[in-house]
Amino acid sequence: MNRVVTSEVLNQLKCKFKGNVVGNEPLSKHTTLRVGGAATIFAIADSLEELRLLLQTSTDFELPYFIIGKGSNLLVSDRGFPGIVVVLGKDFKGISVDGSHIRAGAGVSLQVLVQKALENGLKGLAFAIGIPGSLGGALALNAGAHGHAIGDVVKSVTVYTSDCELKALGGLELSFGYRSSSLPSQGVIVEAVLRLEKGDTNLIRAEMERYFRKRKRTQPLKLPNVGSIFKNPPGLSAGKLIEEAGCKGLRMGDAQVSLKHANFIVNLGNASAHDVYSLMRRVQEEVFRVKGILLETEVTLVGDFE
Ligand SMILES: Cc1cc2nc3c(=O)[nH]c(=O)nc-3n(C[C@H](O)[C@H](O)[C@H](O)COP(=O)(O)OP(=O)(O)OC[C@H]3O[C@@H](n4cnc5c(N)ncnc54)[C@H](O)[C@@H]3O)c2cc1C
Repeated sequence: MNRVVTSEVLNQLKCKFKGNVVGNEPLSKHTTLRVGGAATIFAIADSLEELRLLLQTSTDFELPYFIIGKGSNLLVSDRGFPGIVVVLGKDFKGISVDGSHIRAGAGVSLQVLVQKALENGLKGLAFAIGIPGSLGGALALNAGAHGHAIGDVVKSVTVYTSDCELKALGGLELSFGYRSSSLPSQGVIVEAVLRLEKGDTNLIRAEMERYFRKRKRTQPLKLPNVGSIFKNPPGLSAGKLIEEAGCKGLRMGDAQVSLKHANFIVNLGNASAHDVYSLMRRVQEEVFRVKGILLETEVTLVGDFE
């Protein structure tokens, strides 16, 4: 987008928009891997009206938009994102409990949800302990661990459609797969109701602690990363395949295949998206050469990598 259009869009938005909107915002500040170029426009939508305004601006100026949750599954290109990046703010962070149901905004962090469930003696979310995403990102990707996933406990989801309407989806209108869901094609996720079960608080806490200890033991949590880079092929472990292909510790620039968990790539300090992407491709090639299996990417690529 040329500079004149950018400043026109920014000026228009700043006139109508009470929330935070800036130009040329480095997305490395908003991703857990700490890499990625700038978004032409970066905005925090604090209300549905502000979200509407941003999506309308995206249509009016024929600019793509992208919703970011906590940026914990994203590899953003060094060239950034040539459009409007939106984060859901204040009005999307509500959370309430009604019996064994939790209603939460898409901007609520999974960790807040996990704690809320624990406080209310509700079971079904312990698996999510340590997954550093938002509810919106978790629903979009059907985040999961230890044989469970968020889709298992979803009762309904409200999306904001491209026609600027709120639509509640439930039952057969929702479908969840392995790290995928039908939701991103249906609109921006704004809220969901989770159906949990009454449980024993001590048992729930013990389950959470067990899962969290396992994470600390097996994952490189002290260095910036983006979780699993590749999906596990059916019945196999991507990490084990990568290790057996001899890629553990492989390095490109400051991106390294973690020595602790081979399906993680860590940023040793100044990795670029290009370093990470090249390393991913190299690992994919090696695993294919040695094991004859083509690993499928789990991390979401944003922007241009070719
Ligand atoms: C240390 C570490 C451990 C991890 N462990 C796990 C794990 O065990 N299991 C697992 O599944 N994942 C894991 N992840 C990956 C990541 O945390 C999850 O995929 C998480 O659900 C992503 O949520 P997010 O809010 O960060 O989404 P983002 O990374 O910001 O976005 C991911 C995708 O969701 C979309 N999205 C986000 N919000 C919305 C919305 N409101 N409406 C529509 N689309 C939206 C984005 O557009 C994007 O396509 C891990 C990551 C890290 C860094």
